[in-house]
Amino acid sequence: MKSEKIPARGSARGDAVRPRDRLQPAQRSPTVPRLSGAPNPESATVPLGVVVAATPTQAAPLALGLQRRHGNRFVARTLKIARQGGAATAAAPAFSVNRAQYLRRVNQALQNLGGRLVAGNTFAGFVQPILRAMLAQVTWRDSAGTDHGGGVIRHTLPGRPPLALNLRLILDDKATPQRAGQFRHTGATDGILSVLVRNNGTAQALTEVLYHEALHMVSWIINRSGGAARIAGAPSRAIRGLQMSRLTTQIAGIRRQIGALAQSVNARRQAAGGTQITSAGLDRMARWLMEEVQVRAETEVFQQFLQVQQQRRQRGGRGRMYMLTRQYGSINARVVDRYVFDYSRVFEPADRTGLTISDRQTLQQLTRTLEGFYQLQVRRRFSLAAYSSGRPRIRPRFGPRPLQPPNLRQRIQAPTRSPPF
Ligand SMILES: [Zn+2]
Repeated sequence: MKSEKIPARGSARGDAVRPRDRLQPAQRSPTVPRLSGAPNPESATVPLGVVVAATPTQAAPLALGLQRRHGNRFVARTLKIARQGGAATAAAPAFSVNRAQYLRRVNQALQNLGGRLVAGNTFAGFVQPILRAMLAQVTWRDSAGTDHGGGVIRHTLPGRPPLALNLRLILDDKATPQRAGQFRHTGATDGILSVLVRNNGTAQALTEVLYHEALHMVSWIINRSGGAARIAGAPSRAIRGLQMSRLTTQIAGIRRQIGALAQSVNARRQAAGGTQITSAGLDRMARWLMEEVQVRAETEVFQQFLQVQQQRRQRGGRGRMYMLTRQYGSINARVVDRYVFDYSRVFEPADRTGLTISDRQTLQQLTRTLEGFYQLQVRRRFSLAAYSSGRPRIRPRFGPRPLQPPNLRQRIQAPTRSPPF
């Protein structure tokens, strides 16, 4: 596994990297992810909230000033940029955060992906070096949507032949973000991971969103890009959970439920002279919902392992009883409502109007279905009992929970924090 900044190779003998060279990666990758149409065959994640500039923007002096002359010293360069990011861009427009401080939090988040327990049981060991390399060339996007600095990195996945990905990390200072982050891709080789700065103020939130969005990247590699064999070092049980080809029965079940909802919505749309939801759109949406459920479950699994790891460290290895306090992104009625009407781009927000009792029952069933898949996957992947001695006095919170009917009032309330999608 190897990461390199494009086009750092030319600097191996100490040549200065000229500003013009730094424009090449973006120019060589004209396939900037498009802005609409997810879920669709080329874009498994929903492109919402973040607008990608149609043309590459010129690299700011931030990264240039820190250019290392030997391309293989990636981690060191990552940290150095993180420490100097704010100071090197004094003339840049104002951001809502102190960028140097914020980058320290991002680095802390990436450190959380290290450690034997999480590396051995999750995708953290696989994604951490990729994210570090991306951070070394991070682009800041201001609230006006203008990009500052950074660029595309090339990350080569092992295999025959090796597969080179063009990846980019954007810290987006959008003023009123709808979401915490997103991963978008174009084709099999180009991906952009965005973090919405204003929804991720702490290292803990950054850990969560970076890992979650990196999982979408992993899913992209497994299902659409290089295949599972490219995910070197990740546990096979974790990989299986993200292989959509293993979940066709479950996806078909989701498809039937959203199909029933679409039939009702289409009747109202037709009466109003609107466009119809297509069968192909529903097929893509079903698969996309399944991926999101599995990625959320795997994010939760990571959080559980991380908590055990951190508690072990705090106790210096003593004590074998763990308290798990957080539950990441479980599936509930509000989450499903947002997925279906706000993020799918198959259904629209306006389709909430006129939902029948039967439609609401369908949405409740869909919620139960998705939550069931989520809980099943979490239980498959993590068992608190394996990390506790004797009779556990503290039960994991992710055991079977009573199903809650949807709270319709919540539909019109903004979430306290946008979940990563
Ligand atoms: Zn997601």
